[in-house]
Amino acid sequence: MTLCASTTLRLRTGGSLLLRRGKSTAVLGALPSSEPVASSRAPVRRVWERSDVQAVFDQPLLELVFQAANVHRQHHDPRRIQLCTLMNIKEGGCSEDCAYCSQSSRYETHSKASKLEDLDIVLEEARRAKANGSTRFCMGAAWREVGGRKRGFTRILEMVREIRGMGMEVCTTLGMLTAEQAQQLKEAGLSAYNHNLDTSREYYGKVITSRTYEDRLSTIAHVRDAGIAVCSGGILGLGEDESDRVGLIWEMSRLPEPPESFPVNALVAIPGTPMEGQAPVTFQEMLRTVSTARIVLPTSIVRIAAGRHLFSESEQAMLFLAGANAIFTGHRMLTTPTSSWDEDKALLARWGLSGMNSFETPRMAAEEAARPTHARAADAPTSPFPFRAKSIAL
Ligand code: SF4
Repeated sequence: MTLCASTTLRLRTGGSLLLRRGKSTAVLGALPSSEPVASSRAPVRRVWERSDVQAVFDQPLLELVFQAANVHRQHHDPRRIQLCTLMNIKEGGCSEDCAYCSQSSRYETHSKASKLEDLDIVLEEARRAKANGSTRFCMGAAWREVGGRKRGFTRILEMVREIRGMGMEVCTTLGMLTAEQAQQLKEAGLSAYNHNLDTSREYYGKVITSRTYEDRLSTIAHVRDAGIAVCSGGILGLGEDESDRVGLIWEMSRLPEPPESFPVNALVAIPGTPMEGQAPVTFQEMLRTVSTARIVLPTSIVRIAAGRHLFSESEQAMLFLAGANAIFTGHRMLTTPTSSWDEDKALLARWGLSGMNSFETPRMAAEEAARPTHARAADAPTSPFPFRAKSIAL
């Protein structure tokens, strides 16, 4: 195009390109916006065939990452990362036989069985997490199921109530739940419940034999029916092949609602477990899985969970680019290491990222808004970080 002296080209806010000649103005087109698209539009949920998920997964890796990054920007603010702290409130002595887990009583590992933590200790840890910028506090107990543990469960309900009252999102992972227990957790203020499917339906039996895939789906259904957000994901590096990773993501896409959160763990091989000799997951495997999950589960939080410390800072940044938008931070993630709050704050700052507020996502905001006014958090933590990214108005 040739421009004469009376012709100007302007970029206007929103990214449209204007052509002005004399008194006439023409909109030539829109540039990609620097602002993420608001997620207030009700997303149309796609029904995925397994072969479609496989086709997404099989693309050349950087093409896949590019597509995932685009999908991420349509549903999330790509500058925001949720910081979660996961506390082990009852370690070891679990009767299940999950082949990767140091807390199973069937294996000789460094984990020793402990009693359920006292309320005060847990609340102190939650306050510390909040002061350091975590906005979701998760509590894990190494149990097959809550079952008939009435006193312990009552204490956990109190923990949930108190931590929700601090203005944090609260998550627990306590094994299998009945519908009634899920309802009690909901009434106490639980935001999310973690119950992983771990891997594909076909490979599952190679990893766990003491409970079935259907058992897991049944607990997930109780959680969802109680109105609690479902956090469910998997572990890479269990000896599964790529079609099992596809199978896991496909199973998630078939749930009646997509999981609010999809954690992707890289196996941390624990001496004494049947998985102790497994080769570490490569970064490319992790990136491919995260990218595929982002495309197939566009509204879910994709969470980099155990094993994050196995990847370099630049690799973690690429996972964020591909759509991962939550991390665990603090001192430990159940029984495996994680980065400290200070390290993670510095990491996010270097990449122009900032921590999410509590109840920032549409799913959590709706849940908080539905609570009775008196039960709502007066002082939900906001991002304490001074480095919040600013967009440039064009
Ligand atoms: S993963 Fe959970 S259920 Fe399985 S052995 Fe470990 S603590 Fe028990």
